[in-house]
Amino acid sequence: MNLDPTLNADLHCHSVVSDGTLTPEALAARAAAAGVELWALTDHDEVAGQLRARDAARAQGLPYVTGTEISVSFAGRVVHIVGLGFDPLDEALVQGLRATRGGREARAREMAAGLAQVGIKGAYEGALHYVGNPELISRTHFARFLVEHGHCADVPEVFRRYLTEGKPGFVPHKWASLRDAVGWITGAGGVAVIAHPGRYDFTPTEEYALITEFMGHGGRGIEVVTGSHTTAEYVKYAETALEFDLLASRGSDFHSPTESRIDLGALPMLPGKLTPVWSALADRIQH
Ligand code: AMP
Ligand code: MN
Ligand code: MN
Ligand code: MN
Repeated sequence: MNLDPTLNADLHCHSVVSDGTLTPEALAARAAAAGVELWALTDHDEVAGQLRARDAARAQGLPYVTGTEISVSFAGRVVHIVGLGFDPLDEALVQGLRATRGGREARAREMAAGLAQVGIKGAYEGALHYVGNPELISRTHFARFLVEHGHCADVPEVFRRYLTEGKPGFVPHKWASLRDAVGWITGAGGVAVIAHPGRYDFTPTEEYALITEFMGHGGRGIEVVTGSHTTAEYVKYAETALEFDLLASRGSDFHSPTESRIDLGALPMLPGKLTPVWSALADRIQH
């Protein structure tokens, strides 16, 4: 298998097991049809979809690596860490993810209480209608409910008006630590990757702290080409990957055919001078 930077790898997307709208099987079929050559399903804080994704990928003739995206609290902000190529049955990883998911229900009830105060009733029950996995109730499910009920035109508008810091439906939450998230992934034989670094609005000093602490815990990769980055950010984070000698990743962060701007497999290729994360995953790829 060709493992050079021009591989059409898509190593970041979500199914109904977290906050995507397609099943792992439908995603595998969509990825294969789009010409994806290496795929990972990376549901938030959960690996329950991994065996389904692997089997569906195999049925499509699509090479697969295991994946997840862990929610981390770092420097007062939420950072996402993608894990790739780990053993999905690893006990410490499974327990750690379970603990990370644990606070979501109480948080969701508080979010609904905040929304009720501005006149939006029944948001918890409403969001639950969109949830495939009750342990993974997320802001995305609230956003879908608010759009369907005419409160906003689309999901990004809901985030802007209701679900981000300072807005009525926002509830601060303590997620996993950076050390734990990277430790669970690497302990299970996987590679940890900083997801969409351009999204965090960190100062250069904060970003430097994130990268160096992440690497200090054993993290090795960074997303360069992602659905969350602008073209300028592809260039910026390609330089970051070179500067810190990090493995570069590529992933659409696809959630839904109607909500996601970038489809599976549709991003530009990684810049050729980078070392792709899949070069370190050769023995974890399942055919
Ligand atoms: P949660 O884990 O419940 O905090 O939800 C986070 C999820 O919300 C992310 O994984 C994205 O899918 C989605 N999200 C976050 N910010 C935005 C935004 N500004 N517009 C649309 N979706 C967003
Ligand atoms: Mn999401
Ligand atoms: Mn993310
Ligand atoms: Mn994601």
